[in-house]
Amino acid sequence: MRNVSSLTLVLSEKCNFSCPYCPQQKGKNTLKIGDIFDFLDLLRPRLDREVWLGFYGGEALLSWPLVKKTVAYAEKNFKNKFRFTLTTNGSLVKKEHVVFFKKHHFDLVLSYDGLAQKNRDARSLPAVEAALMNLQQHYPDGYVINSVFTPDTVPLLAASIEQMLKQGHSRLQYALDLCVPWAKKDLAVLETQLGRLANMAKKHRQKTGRMPLENFATNGRKGIFACFAGRDRLALLPDRTVWGCYLFYDLLGHDPANPDYARYCFGKLKEFIALPARALAAKAANYAELRQDYFSSEKKELCGLCDDLERCAVCPVTAALATGTLAMIPDWTCRIRRITRRATSLLNGAATRLT
Ligand code: SF4
Ligand code: SF4
Repeated sequence: MRNVSSLTLVLSEKCNFSCPYCPQQKGKNTLKIGDIFDFLDLLRPRLDREVWLGFYGGEALLSWPLVKKTVAYAEKNFKNKFRFTLTTNGSLVKKEHVVFFKKHHFDLVLSYDGLAQKNRDARSLPAVEAALMNLQQHYPDGYVINSVFTPDTVPLLAASIEQMLKQGHSRLQYALDLCVPWAKKDLAVLETQLGRLANMAKKHRQKTGRMPLENFATNGRKGIFACFAGRDRLALLPDRTVWGCYLFYDLLGHDPANPDYARYCFGKLKEFIALPARALAAKAANYAELRQDYFSSEKKELCGLCDDLERCAVCPVTAALATGTLAMIPDWTCRIRRITRRATSLLNGAATRLT
């Protein structure tokens, strides 16, 4: 395992929303502050020069005292080592939080689905929109809005992003719910929406010199993608288990009888602390096999033989949440990858239309 450059603390399983696309199971588990201190202290010799420390939930702001105590501990004991990030549904963000985020230079991810938010949790709209205004006013460069679209809400994608741009939010990204099937007609709508989005982003870039959509901010580099989990990142989950990435817990954490649980779980925090170097290396080696060229489609075609291999990057856990098998990619994900690549080409002038 390399030096660690990214740590995620999943503070609790509690959330005040029930988003239809969320893969997390709700529960009562919550981290204790002592667990977080132990985790950070244990990893101290393995930490990179600069490390992203991410707070995640459930809804992370339901565990606000844990966030404050962790930041205070990190700043006192790990001088300038960490850059903080926090993911929130926005519904509980108040002025007090924004002041704290700004003071500690947090990079926030605010989950807001634009015109599709009402499909997600209609009652949340006033609180989330107030939080967005608050952030825009007091910490404009400190947040990115992440909007998730499903086959049902994808017709609202381009108009949602357009509205957020008009409202003056400068950092946006969209995500697609890949855990549910996308029918041919949904993919056709997606193509049209991404075509509109690419044109919109292009015009915005010409006018302002800035690319507002992080999805389109590509460096154009090609290469074989490898999942980062367990290589340079780790996550501590609310039941005190340690994984290479928090998504593995959504897939396997509630199924200890699954053979993949033992392959990918580093054990409870106390076991992880006591893990001999050889056992740690063996777990890390399992993660190292999660490379795009070892993945396969549901039709059992190896990604390693695909013409698009070096331009493709699929999260093996998200794929497994749909297919039930780690690194087995559903057919619609391949199609979506191709559609999104064509949209990026359109934006960069390498294609004239989306087909
Ligand atoms: S497009 Fe599909 S088959 Fe090709 S590399 Fe990507 S996931 Fe694998
Ligand atoms: S590819 Fe998926 S499982 Fe791997 S680190 Fe990224 S989000 Fe986590």
